[in-house]
Amino acid sequence: MDPLVVVGAGQAGYWAARTLKQECAAQVVLIGEECHEPYERPPLSKSVLAGTAGPDAARLKWPGGTLHEEIDFVSSTQVIRLERSEKRIVLSDGRILPYGKLLLATGGRARRLGVPGGNHERVHYLRSMDDAVRLKAGLESATSVLVLGGGWIGLEVAATARAMGKRVVVWEAAALPCGRVLAPSAAKKLVELHRAKGVVLQFGCQAACVTDGLNGGVVVRSDSGQALEVDLVVAGIGMVANDELAFDAGIACDNGILVDAAARTSVPDIFAAGDVAKQVIYRDGPAARLESWLNAQEQGIAAARSMLGIDVEYRPLPWFWSDQFDVNLQLVGRVDGINQSSLYWQFDENELMQLQFDPVGRLVGAIAFNRGRDLRAVRKALERGFEIDRSRFDDSSMDLSDQLNRAIDATQHGKEMT
Ligand code: NAP
Repeated sequence: MDPLVVVGAGQAGYWAARTLKQECAAQVVLIGEECHEPYERPPLSKSVLAGTAGPDAARLKWPGGTLHEEIDFVSSTQVIRLERSEKRIVLSDGRILPYGKLLLATGGRARRLGVPGGNHERVHYLRSMDDAVRLKAGLESATSVLVLGGGWIGLEVAATARAMGKRVVVWEAAALPCGRVLAPSAAKKLVELHRAKGVVLQFGCQAACVTDGLNGGVVVRSDSGQALEVDLVVAGIGMVANDELAFDAGIACDNGILVDAAARTSVPDIFAAGDVAKQVIYRDGPAARLESWLNAQEQGIAAARSMLGIDVEYRPLPWFWSDQFDVNLQLVGRVDGINQSSLYWQFDENELMQLQFDPVGRLVGAIAFNRGRDLRAVRKALERGFEIDRSRFDDSSMDLSDQLNRAIDATQHGKEMT
């Protein structure tokens, strides 16, 4: 029997390989282009960058043994071609490998700064372990940092660098940070948090060129003519899906590999999962890539089961977290604020909870700053498909946890009665 092959040894690839190994006796091959064993990305912009944890802390451990004992792990190797009619792949070292079933978990790469001087050696990115190690070394000798992009990478790096005592400026192209996923009111809270900690945030601002500075640093000019000399630049301006391998093989792609709820691509026996996969997330919505740690794990597992012929219907509930300064931010469900109303509780400066409702007043998501317990309650309710009405909440007097529990109990009871 030809092996089950997983291309991409990130979070999705690791969980898929692990699930395949647990659930069948077939040969499992996991191929990664980095020299490292699979690792998780969340610590890269936080503890690994701050130096409070070494790279090994991010490594994904294999239960009860080592990866190499359990599967065929091929590192430092790219898959350069997929020959789907022969059901085989060609590796960068010249080897040709047949597959029975193939999973593409090729993830993404950091979008490059496409301006003159954008490839200056002091311009850093943060996607891989090697990026994090290089950026950490750069930060150690830097006193000033310009972060391009006020998305998740940008804000997490800004928080880490500021906590290390660096002068930090963030330039974000849009009017607010994390604008594509986060409701404006919550995005404004993030701005307040960063400003209170001394980060300078400027909006509507993009880099136009990068040149050598007079004092050993780099000068970055903005599109409005502003010039800033800093020791180091970090560009966190988004992710590009690594879908070329699939696209070149004639698999349906559209800024990501299109998959159904069983992680199947448009070609039989080829599956996709993780940051590169694009699927319909909400039944009434368009296909989207869900670039999150949890989705990579859960879709990787779902894809593996699907490869084994098990009936799978993977409908992710988006959940996401970020640590910035002393705030643990969590998002669940739909929280972009588009056609949504919200109810908002501020408990203290860094503690808040926001519930998001759709146009007919059903709870569809929540945003929490340091309110993990409340967010967990909402997550559970949404996972169970409860339709909780806005009228069950009042944003003034009663304790939010009580209100949430009462609303969930009432909805659960209503559901059980029907
Ligand atoms: P991101 O979250 O998409 O944010 C990129 C930001 O940069 C966007 O706000 C974007 O604005 C802005 N931008 C684009 N071009 C720009 C330019 N030339 N100058 C200034 N701003 C510019 O992407 P990211 O922060 O690079 O993160 C990459 C991936 O890692 C994402 O998938 C993210 O979800 C993931 N990540 C997750 C976590 C976490 O789970 N906690 C942490 C870090 C990273 P527009 O939206 O208007 O283009």
